[in-house]
Amino acid sequence: MIRPYDVVVVGGGPAGSTCARLCAEEGLSVCLVEEHGAAGVPVQCAGLLSMSAFRECEVSSGSIISTVRGARVVSSLGPVLEFDAGVPKAHVVDRARLDREMLDRAARAGTEIRMKTSFVTRGDHCIVTRGVNGREEIPFKVLVAADGARSRVARVMGMPRPPVFLAGLQADILHTMDQSRVEIHPDASPEFFGWAIPIGSGRARVGLAGRTGVGDLFLRFLSRFGEGAHQAQVHLVSGTIPLGTMTRTYGNRTLFVGDAAGMAKPTSGGGVYTGVRAARHAARVIGKAVAEGDSSDRILSRYEHAWKSDFGRELDLGMRLFRMRHGFSPGDISRLISGLGDPAILDDIITLGDMDRPHRLVHRLLTRPSLYPLLGILIRSGVRQIYKE
Ligand SMILES: Cc1cc2nc3c(=O)[nH]c(=O)nc-3n(C[C@H](O)[C@H](O)[C@H](O)COP(=O)(O)OP(=O)(O)OC[C@H]3O[C@@H](n4cnc5c(N)ncnc54)[C@H](O)[C@@H]3O)c2cc1C
Repeated sequence: MIRPYDVVVVGGGPAGSTCARLCAEEGLSVCLVEEHGAAGVPVQCAGLLSMSAFRECEVSSGSIISTVRGARVVSSLGPVLEFDAGVPKAHVVDRARLDREMLDRAARAGTEIRMKTSFVTRGDHCIVTRGVNGREEIPFKVLVAADGARSRVARVMGMPRPPVFLAGLQADILHTMDQSRVEIHPDASPEFFGWAIPIGSGRARVGLAGRTGVGDLFLRFLSRFGEGAHQAQVHLVSGTIPLGTMTRTYGNRTLFVGDAAGMAKPTSGGGVYTGVRAARHAARVIGKAVAEGDSSDRILSRYEHAWKSDFGRELDLGMRLFRMRHGFSPGDISRLISGLGDPAILDDIITLGDMDRPHRLVHRLLTRPSLYPLLGILIRSGVRQIYKE
């Protein structure tokens, strides 16, 4: 058998490319396998990245399609909540282009990349792949599972999977909307929400996610954008969003990062920020494991400790908010949207709102007297779980 790579990464999405690049930059020998022939396709993303998520990706501005400063939260029953932070809050990116650039950077740092090569199974010290070169065995010291929501590595290893999988459906349509704001439609899906994102003049990216009946919900949601919206879908995307991280994200010389570990944010479904942050923590721990010649669970557990200290609390809170949201009827949502229109609350949203780290804003909002009239709705939906934190 050939000499083992220090690191083998399965998956060339943002999490896998980042981990591979950072390990290679530290001088480790790295091999990355990706089942598709190009990074980032098929696209399974709305491409909305907060400014900090975009910065974490460390790419050029080439993938940016537009930049937004605020949001409109729209209830189908009438009330609308609008805010504009006056400064850029998020970029809308072309995910295929972003992923390609991230993988290019991993290659330039020295990662050996094998496209059209799928992870099939693993032995103790190697993975088995099938691809353009037929069946291969690729030996490793540390394995990184960055193979997305349906992680085959996790399934082969019998790891506990995230508790919730949402189905997402989205289309780019011909529709004119305010280019400076995203739209959120909380009652478009009873378990999550719908979105409309500006992607340039006369075009919008419209989608939603949920657990069941997503196809029908999506068709109904499209009708909100005019009769022509059904006919004018020029790019259709479907995908899975895993919520609720695996109970253990390391083991048997393997680290699980990004969607493979269920790290998408339960408040938005976004997973690029957390995936890339986790990849950074993984790369640091792998560097130590290789330097010390020790890839035991004792060393690898530092990875879980690191990502949990970084954003674990935010994901926990997100999961509680996700469960609370299930208790909201369209009428509740409408009353909440009206209640949040209070100027002090809008000010909180603008100053404390952070797509990746909702903790500070949520805790501030819960102290605002103008929300007291809504406490009935919140208590019925389980807000006590958040106060308890
Ligand atoms: C409809 C929708 C909209 C979304 N919108 C947003 C958004 O606006 N903002 C945001 O931040 N996130 C969004 N997300 C989530 C985001 O797309 C993911 O969280 C993110 O891509 C996770 O990155 P990753 O690197 O962990 O996994 P992925 O990007 O899924 O990459 C995994 C890679 O592994 C490869 N792979 C899988 N199995 C194998 C195998 N057996 N062998 C080899 N390679 C394999 C895949 O081909 C893929 O390239 C959205 C998701 C959906 C479904």
